[in-house]
Amino acid sequence: MTSDVVLRFAEYMFGKWDLEIVKKENSWLMNFIGWFLQLIRVMKKKTFMERYTTTMFGKVYLNFELGNLEQRSWASQMALIAHESEHRRQCTLGPSWWWRLEYLFSKKKRALYEMWAYGTSIKITYNLTGYIIDSYNYAQKLEDYGLIKYVKSAEKYYEHVIANLHNDTYDSQVDIDAKQWIKDEMLSYA
Ligand SMILES: [Zn+2]
Repeated sequence: MTSDVVLRFAEYMFGKWDLEIVKKENSWLMNFIGWFLQLIRVMKKKTFMERYTTTMFGKVYLNFELGNLEQRSWASQMALIAHESEHRRQCTLGPSWWWRLEYLFSKKKRALYEMWAYGTSIKITYNLTGYIIDSYNYAQKLEDYGLIKYVKSAEKYYEHVIANLHNDTYDSQVDIDAKQWIKDEMLSYA
């Protein structure tokens, strides 16, 4: 697998959902939000800046260089591209400023939005590699978002996603598009 596949997938998904790529470390807005999240004890600024990619205002703030396979595996980069596109889709469910407010101030909504997006990550990882992500370990990620209370629900939701990997009943438009792109890509090698 080459970085070319990652870049083409990003071009397709971010193109479709109208997302622009920005380097997170260079953004004053991201630095400010990191400081704010630390202030309200959601997570440390360093964790926010270095460990997570953030999608906001039509931009994907990346904490690594897309296509650089030394920083992150190709499959995890592609799962992340789909994850961030899913957040962008969530924005379209209502006025986009509303999504951001809910995300920042309602723990319940933030948990739901992250669960959906991590559900997308699970589906895309499986479609790319056949690997099934451990739902218990994956659910623990919510702790970094100040969502310890929702870890159990997340685990249950991921188990449900895993049980349904072979059908598309619970797929969002992002899941459908990403899975189709991967299928077409694989067919082109056959
Ligand atoms: Zn997310």
